[in-house]
Amino acid sequence: MNDQIEKLKEVMAIDSQIDAMYAEAHAKLEPSLEAKALIEVVKKTKETADELESEAKSNVIQFGKLKAFYKKNQEKVSMLAKIDIDSLDDDKLAKLKAYLEKMLDNLSGIESKLKELNTNIERILKDFDKAKKDANKAREEYRKLTLSSMGEGRKKLSNLKRKRTMILNTIDDRLLEAMQYLHDNAIDNPVVEIVEPICTICNELISKKALKVMFEFDYSRCNNCGRIIYTDALKAA
Ligand SMILES: [Zn+2]
Repeated sequence: MNDQIEKLKEVMAIDSQIDAMYAEAHAKLEPSLEAKALIEVVKKTKETADELESEAKSNVIQFGKLKAFYKKNQEKVSMLAKIDIDSLDDDKLAKLKAYLEKMLDNLSGIESKLKELNTNIERILKDFDKAKKDANKAREEYRKLTLSSMGEGRKKLSNLKRKRTMILNTIDDRLLEAMQYLHDNAIDNPVVEIVEPICTICNELISKKALKVMFEFDYSRCNNCGRIIYTDALKAA
């Protein structure tokens, strides 16, 4: 097995150890009222932040539409202002004057609505900021509670994390990027050993290009599912 793959597998083993430790701590915490209250706070603050975010978005959209409407009205007023008034009789002049006054009135109405929306948006964004901070604080408190419930296990956890970082520092960026992709897309069994040029997880034939990469670096990516593939059998053959 390739040295890099071996290291990657070591990291994966550490990850499952860390996950198990957290799962155990969460299970132990679950019945505690303090934990329940905190989980509730984490949920509520996140909901508030999400609501405020979508409120801000809809206000911004409204603002944009109103601004466009304002501009259109402004253009209309400046067009009317260009009319040669000497050519108008008194009746028409009076009508134009009344119309212009009404338009200007409209414009100032829109202006104050725009100001109001702007104030709204500022307030919402401020509230959103606070909600986000509250949510982070609650999460942080829950994290601390989880750690404190681990007791002696905390030392083991920090050792595992340190070891994990040390190994990660010795793994190729290319391999880490592949791993990140598989993690972000929640793809299970990220590292697959193959004995034939077939990905045993998605059952696709491995492309010649991917095989070429595998012979060069001792590992490659499945051209279909993106999983990291390696083999000992093909190399010997
Ligand atoms: Zn595959």
